[in-house]
Amino acid sequence: MPEEVAVDMSIVLMGPPGAGKGTQAAVLERRTGRKHVASGDLFRAHMIKGTELGQQARSFVDRGELVPDEVVINMILQRAKEPDCQNGVIFDGFPRTRKQAKALMEGLRAQGEELGAVVLLAVPRDVLLKRIAGRQTCELCQTPYNIFYTPPRLEAICDLCGGNLYTRTDDSMQTARHRLDVYARDTFPLIEFFRDLGLLREVDAVGDVDAVIDLVTEAAALPTVSSGQTGSVA
Ligand SMILES: [Zn+2]
Repeated sequence: MPEEVAVDMSIVLMGPPGAGKGTQAAVLERRTGRKHVASGDLFRAHMIKGTELGQQARSFVDRGELVPDEVVINMILQRAKEPDCQNGVIFDGFPRTRKQAKALMEGLRAQGEELGAVVLLAVPRDVLLKRIAGRQTCELCQTPYNIFYTPPRLEAICDLCGGNLYTRTDDSMQTARHRLDVYARDTFPLIEFFRDLGLLREVDAVGDVDAVIDLVTEAAALPTVSSGQTGSVA
């Protein structure tokens, strides 16, 4: 087991579609021992298992309504109490509103923890658009390509199996623009909220994954468990 360095400090990881949040969260989990909790996965698990909170959530989802903050917050705080979260949590996809953010901070405090930092992956809009709208996938072997960054040798043909490449309708340029607009509009108040509290750490997330993860780790002031650091954590 890695040396115990955690100080019970959780972080929130934020970033627009195409910023590489999932990848960063997975690496960050391995490097820091904090548990990656993706709210979307958590909701699905609750609904599939049919827990009390899952049933409550489903009753709203089935009516096409938003799941109320109270249900969402309960799910998250309950999850953060589980043993695998004792070194802290990397919250992903939550909070989405200022109200949720306040409830999260209060809930963590009640559990004897603190929200340590909010890391925002910053990527210029034109790069995000290329990352999203450039995606193509082989219809036979599912190998992913990007026409701007990792194009196939022959247009729309898979290098590996010769299959045709397709673009998901979700990933068209028009949809990509819309998704980024919605994200920017919805998250702006939240970003300001965390900035005012001095918790926001913006990270330039354009470089390669390893370079970005170093920046993210540093930004969140999270000691790494893999580098053999022995500095005191008191
Ligand atoms: Zn293929």
